[in-house]
Amino acid sequence: MTDLQLLLKALEFASYRHRSQYRKGTAKIPYINHPIQVAALLANEGGETDIKLLSAAVLHDVIEDTVDSVEEKNKLMSEISALFGEEILALTMEVTDDKTLEKRVRKQLQIDQANHKSVSARKLKIADKISNLREIIVDPPDWWPIERIVEYLLWAEKVVEGLKGVNPELEKLFYETLAEAKKKYSV
Ligand code: ZN
Repeated sequence: MTDLQLLLKALEFASYRHRSQYRKGTAKIPYINHPIQVAALLANEGGETDIKLLSAAVLHDVIEDTVDSVEEKNKLMSEISALFGEEILALTMEVTDDKTLEKRVRKQLQIDQANHKSVSARKLKIADKISNLREIIVDPPDWWPIERIVEYLLWAEKVVEGLKGVNPELEKLFYETLAEAKKKYSV
């Protein structure tokens, strides 16, 4: 398989898995816009060319957000491994939260484990946070009170603190986007 074929296959797979989902904002943005944006940020802002990283970026929320049980999760993991290989699966798993844990615990783990992640996972997570911040600036979930937005911004800042040192362009973009979000919400 060529790099382009692999990436297109990842796009086809992820868009199917997310087909009935929307992002949290009021604009009802199709979910797939987000993983596409994360891959585009890595390639076009971060200058990343590793096709496994870009394909994992496209697939990064598939396991976290499109399964409801451990059985479904295991089935999906073997599917990803068969279609895209062990490395892409491993990278996807590195950026997937364990949903059997309480939300508070998962959030803390993202902070605690940030600097233990692989270089590729750290790049992917920074791009993921940039994409989420952009959305919070233009189209935040309307049920989020300002306190929750502020809490999210400060949490994302802590996570990226531990991820830093892997891609200066992406890091710069993260902090610019964070500053814009903080300004908008007077943090
Ligand atoms: Zn994501």
